[in-house]
Amino acid sequence: MGVSRREFMKLSGSSVLLGSLGVRVDPAEAAAQELRIKDAKETKTICPYCSVGCGIIIHTKDGNVVNTEGDPDHPINEGTLCSKGASLFEVINNPQRLIKPKYRASGATEWKDVEWDWALDEIAKRVKDTRDRSFKTTSKSKVKEKAADGTEKGIEKDFVVNRTDAIAHVGSAALDNEECYMLQKMLRSWGLVYIEHQARI
Ligand code: SF4
Repeated sequence: MGVSRREFMKLSGSSVLLGSLGVRVDPAEAAAQELRIKDAKETKTICPYCSVGCGIIIHTKDGNVVNTEGDPDHPINEGTLCSKGASLFEVINNPQRLIKPKYRASGATEWKDVEWDWALDEIAKRVKDTRDRSFKTTSKSKVKEKAADGTEKGIEKDFVVNRTDAIAHVGSAALDNEECYMLQKMLRSWGLVYIEHQARI
């Protein structure tokens, strides 16, 4: 049977559309997928990448992730995922995935694995040292002041600021409302003013 170029485009277009809607167009592929998740434990979770918060189903067998896919019952994504969410399976099982904090000492050329407890203690110590050294209670700013004769002149005045300019914080789109609230409380109480978000940079 001959297929014209127009008919071919229509056919392949509908296959892509059905595939992207989660409808399996290839029975062999569907059977292989069914076999892969047979008897697997199903856990529902949220994609860790961005604040859209798409629902994902994770299938595990013997503690290993064997499949991830969009959750069709989730009200936000209804089974669909963007390319990042769709690649989650590859991230989980990637041998290059970082599962420990890395540290490169000043002047060293190599990164080395360190324990979480050590990394967290070190971060806390450095934040405290830096804040102690850089904290300002006041800062000078130029303002205009009216003299008795009605003329204006620029003068330098001290303003209470209670801040440190030496520490910055970058948040991520994976933070939820409660985490953002807690972080803001903590960072503002330290006197940070450079509080940024990775989605805006
Ligand atoms: S990265 Fe993609 S799949 Fe994940 S929550 Fe955001 S839009 Fe959804």
